[in-house]
Amino acid sequence: MQVLRQALQEWYNSHQRDLPWRHTNDPYAIWLSEIILQQTRVDQGLPYYQRFLSNYPDVLQLAAATQQEVLNLWQGLGYYSRGRNLHATAQQIAQDYSGVFPDTHEGLLKLKGVGPYTAAAIASFAYNLPHAVIDGNVFRVLSRYFGIEAPINSTEGKPIFEALAKELLDQGNPALHNQAIMEFGALQCKPVSPNCSACPVLTTCSAHRNNQVALLPIKLKKVKVRKRFFVYHLQQNAQKQLAFQKRGPKDIWEGLFEFPLTEFADENQLKSYLADQIIIGGRFQHILTHQRIEAYFVVDPNWNQMHSDVIFLDLAGLQDHPIPRLIDKFLIAHSNELF
Ligand code: SF4
Repeated sequence: MQVLRQALQEWYNSHQRDLPWRHTNDPYAIWLSEIILQQTRVDQGLPYYQRFLSNYPDVLQLAAATQQEVLNLWQGLGYYSRGRNLHATAQQIAQDYSGVFPDTHEGLLKLKGVGPYTAAAIASFAYNLPHAVIDGNVFRVLSRYFGIEAPINSTEGKPIFEALAKELLDQGNPALHNQAIMEFGALQCKPVSPNCSACPVLTTCSAHRNNQVALLPIKLKKVKVRKRFFVYHLQQNAQKQLAFQKRGPKDIWEGLFEFPLTEFADENQLKSYLADQIIIGGRFQHILTHQRIEAYFVVDPNWNQMHSDVIFLDLAGLQDHPIPRLIDKFLIAHSNELF
């Protein structure tokens, strides 16, 4: 711990970039820089930071601006919800805190859009309070240096990294320590091609010793959820039986029976179709591991696109035909109105 702690600060003293938010302990300016730099590169965010500070030198002036003015200044940074949140938080500080930033970690966490990372950054940089920041750079440095294989975004990994970051923190100079480890991750222990050959902790770095630099940190891949929009057509014959079709291969529910289906590519197409339909039962949501289905059941007398393999079934006939849970849920709620 001590070796890394000291090496980080020495490295930082000779390698740090000269960035304007490092020359201030004004919580407003630090908060501004943190919000602007979320999902934004330093060189891209820098002119925005300067523009915001010169237009709104303090939080009360930012709060007094209109949302349109703030968004105009934000233009080009993307993620406009961040711009709107920035303005809303400024107004919260103006109204609830008389324009004065909270000066504790817990107090900062009560601000809109301020999570544990931003609260620790403001608490340490503005007030030199001993709270360890953990951003992507810190995760990477800790994971590689200590050889932690637990995924950084897993419930198992998070407490391990939090405990390590806390233990490593220089209690006597948290602001310098936090800046140093983040800068080290950004410039030296980079995601791709870290500069190991010139690294001050090369001999004690676990990842380097064990040839794991390219493997760490480990991050769990988020499962991509596909959204699907289904409209089921409730078509009855003279015996009041309902039309069903069997689902084909290479998709969910192969071989199960469902009402004749139209699938829409997106929500807009779905909405425009539904605008003049009689919908039974409103919206049904059905969640599968990799899919989220939004389904509607409609009665459309003009619809006539049934396949030749359609069969008509009543409730008794359905006993012998397997149906997806979604269709089952609909029938449980609405079969009285149909049969
Ligand atoms: S030796 Fe390489 S992987 Fe280890 S801390 Fe230094 S730069 Fe990072």
